[in-house]
Amino acid sequence: MPIFEYTCKKCKTQFEELVFGEGEPVLCPKCGSAKTQKLMSCCRSKVSGGGGGDDAPVAQAAPARSGGGCAGCSGGSCSSCG
Ligand SMILES: [Zn+2]
Repeated sequence: MPIFEYTCKKCKTQFEELVFGEGEPVLCPKCGSAKTQKLMSCCRSKVSGGGGGDDAPVAQAAPARSGGGCAGCSGGSCSSCG
């Protein structure tokens, strides 16, 4: 199950929330406000830069993020990167 990080715009509380479907309002557990915003910590952003023994293509830099989407989804269709 996907767990996303949210931040409350009202009281600045950050919390994690299980998300079962899109479009469902996520309420702040502290103040109950629905003005929460999903944080963009989705999609594997764990890029190992430790220099292991792998032949990882380092040149695969992230494309311009102007069109939305993230490293994990090419077309911005990932439900978690909005
Ligand atoms: Zn709050």
